[in-house]
Amino acid sequence: MKASNARKKRDDKSRGSFKYVDYVEHVGTHLILFPGDCVLLRSEGPVAPVSVAKIKYLRSDLQMEILWFYRPEETTEGRKAFHGKQELLLSNHSDIQSLEAVEDVCKVYTLCQYMALGKCEKDINDFFSRFEYDVGAGRVSPVSHSLPLHCVCNSPYNPDLEMNFCQDCGLWIHVCCEDEHQDGINQCRTYRQKSNNR
Ligand SMILES: [Zn+2]
Ligand SMILES: [Zn+2]
Repeated sequence: MKASNARKKRDDKSRGSFKYVDYVEHVGTHLILFPGDCVLLRSEGPVAPVSVAKIKYLRSDLQMEILWFYRPEETTEGRKAFHGKQELLLSNHSDIQSLEAVEDVCKVYTLCQYMALGKCEKDINDFFSRFEYDVGAGRVSPVSHSLPLHCVCNSPYNPDLEMNFCQDCGLWIHVCCEDEHQDGINQCRTYRQKSNNR
């Protein structure tokens, strides 16, 4: 459904006099852009967060056909505790934008790739994406509880939150959930270690 909607839009717009091209050199930045690249696009307001898109097609008329990335707070489900600060959802919202709107290229990693980056390697323009967002249906997939869940709060992984492994319950526990972890019957090891260190 998603693909056919996008295809339909593309066909409607492809009647003008342009060709699809394999790459373009962006005039302002001299970046070579390819289909599949992720780009930062100029925001409309001075305080609006930067917009991120994935290039589907590049055109000889200096337009590009894109898919927008959504931030968690822009979806019907809203931002949840497990969403990372740099998390984006790839949407099926396609659009045509001028190449002039491109400010820079950026990276949108998978969660695994993002986790593998060292702290110093992460840039403000490094993002990750593990969900897709169907804008028409307002639906995020996969559903969050189908992902591996961690901690006593039973949440998908959030790369921004520090966790300790508790050998007693065999769970990774968020540092911020340590109180709740200790409200259980057992005095777990992570807690004992912490207490001993105090
Ligand atoms: Zn937790
Ligand atoms: Zn425990």
